[in-house]
Amino acid sequence: MTRAIGRVNIVGIAIALLISSAGLLAYQALSLRSALTADARLQAAMVSANITASLMFHDVQATTEILRPLANVPYVESVVVFNPKGTQHARYARAGISEDEANEGTLSRAMVRDHFTLSDVFVATPVIHDGETLGTVVLVASTEGMVQELGRYAGFLIAACAGALWVSSVVTSRMKARVFAAEQELAYLANTDPLTDLPNRRAFYEALAARLRPGCNERLALILIDLDNFKIVNDTLGHGAGDELLRSVAGALRAAVRSTDVVSRIGGDEFAVLAVDDADRHGSRHTAERITTVLARSFDLHGAEVRVTASVGFSQFPGDAADVASLVSSADIALYAAKSSGKNVAVEFMPQMTTDAQRRARLERELRDAIEQDALELAYQPQYDCQTGRLVGAEALVRWTHPTDGNIAPMEFVPIAENSELILALGQWVMRRACRDAVRWNTEARNPVGVSVNVSARQLREPRFQRDVLDALNEHALPADLLELELTESLLMANMAVAVNVMKQLRAEGIRLSIDDFGTGYSSLSYLQSFPLSQLKIDRSFVKALPQAGQPIVTAIISMAHSFGLTVVAEGVEYPAQLAWLRDAGCDIVQGFLTGRPISFAEIVQVVRKADGSAAATDCRIE
Ligand code: C2E
Ligand code: CA
Ligand code: CA
Repeated sequence: MTRAIGRVNIVGIAIALLISSAGLLAYQALSLRSALTADARLQAAMVSANITASLMFHDVQATTEILRPLANVPYVESVVVFNPKGTQHARYARAGISEDEANEGTLSRAMVRDHFTLSDVFVATPVIHDGETLGTVVLVASTEGMVQELGRYAGFLIAACAGALWVSSVVTSRMKARVFAAEQELAYLANTDPLTDLPNRRAFYEALAARLRPGCNERLALILIDLDNFKIVNDTLGHGAGDELLRSVAGALRAAVRSTDVVSRIGGDEFAVLAVDDADRHGSRHTAERITTVLARSFDLHGAEVRVTASVGFSQFPGDAADVASLVSSADIALYAAKSSGKNVAVEFMPQMTTDAQRRARLERELRDAIEQDALELAYQPQYDCQTGRLVGAEALVRWTHPTDGNIAPMEFVPIAENSELILALGQWVMRRACRDAVRWNTEARNPVGVSVNVSARQLREPRFQRDVLDALNEHALPADLLELELTESLLMANMAVAVNVMKQLRAEGIRLSIDDFGTGYSSLSYLQSFPLSQLKIDRSFVKALPQAGQPIVTAIISMAHSFGLTVVAEGVEYPAQLAWLRDAGCDIVQGFLTGRPISFAEIVQVVRKADGSAAATDCRIE
């Protein structure tokens, strides 16, 4: 394109110069000719004045003498003096001219008017004395000098034009170079991710579309990669480290695939690989798994060791999809499956997943309606003091009875809500309902029983979260110390900076905070110190193994939690032997099917009343 611009420019300038030069040359020729004609007329008039007497006396000799000095006027080629009858009286011809040239003046005696040819200008002047015409002087002036003059002028014009063309070609080629560089820059920006230098989303999808053209029988695998813990790096080590990590991951990915494969960064911490020529399922699975392995390692970010893992989803062309859109959505569905199956894994797309994804999409829509229509409910699972058996609290657990599908487990719909903004509305609904219910079950209670509410990571990130919680408390006048928020380890880790801040403010209001599902996340025991927690809930999976196995770890958790001043809740207590062991191990609170399943609001009201009635008696409520 730039070359074309350059060519058009130079040709345009040359044509413009040519036209203006031709104009100047023509103008110059006209003005030189009229100057020559004026000079010739003047000479002819002078000759005519001088030869009056000699013509009158027919003295040819004298006329010839008078004409001779014309040799000093270089442009005068010949002069012929005619008498009135038209016969020649005398003539002058410049030395050295040909006979033909010398006779030109005589040939034109019939002429009455001045005229010119290419090589000569003809001027005729009458010789008049006392009103009587004595004869005519015909003067022939050569245009030779004028032509030479014009030639010089044309030479000058050519030189000037050449100079102008040279200057403009230099300017044009500079401009061309600049336009070319700008074009290159634009193409780079449009197609490249500047951070990693990889093709960006747009370039990747273009490459994908180009490969998947109809009739193409190449086998391809689309591999989507999502970093599992990128947010933690960004939040804890800053964006500089985050960028550094992305660059390192880009490098690791490039090294993990063949040079013919396309690697791209298609979003924040999302990468994509178009693996070409993966002949069989085994091939693309192998590549996807290699990527997972390669990324599950430590990266050195300016001296800080950061461990990352990646979730990988992949789909294949033409096996799983026939066009770009469905190939991408298949890989996306597989990636979702990888993330929800615990991350750090490569998952291959299976047709069944589409059905699952459709169900998720449907449930998401219907859940939105259910929240709006107040169609959800809360179940409450009682929590008992392990030593005294006293009822100390109840955990609110959301329930959804779907009009056609029946009960849908929170393990299914809560993650769906978490994957969209819906979790905010759901969380707010739960918070308000739980506060309302807790106030109701505590009316008339001498020993009020608090409520625990589960909080999702996305909620904590929401700037309004804190205000919403306080609004829910105020709306129903629930004392802050009767509300407990359950936060998961991964939630705290993923939002370290934000989390600590928000938690401190909630704690300052008197709201209690507990860490849920403890032991399933990354958290080291000691890092818990940085959070203003009141309580720790040992995950069900640890309790499940008791008392046969897992005793050392549970003992360690309990003593560590106590040393940090945290109370300990054991979740999922199903057997008396587990309860007995926990009591002996110094656990503070138990919650599980053994002591009480999640029950309706009406039922928990009864449980609270009963517990309150017998509160005076310190005997154990746990049978
Ligand atoms: P979670 O917070 O760990 O809740 C405890 C889960 O364990 C509940 O399942 C409860 O019914 C179950 N459970 C209690 N005792 C036992 C036991 O002895 N044995 C066994 N096997 N299970 C027991 P549920 O109600 O299905 O809730 C599952 C998860 O869904 C919850 O786990 C929580 O992560 C989430 N969830 C429930 N309600 C909400 C909510 O309102 N908001 C948010 N964000 N998440 C919620
Ligand atoms: Ca919980
Ligand atoms: Ca739990």
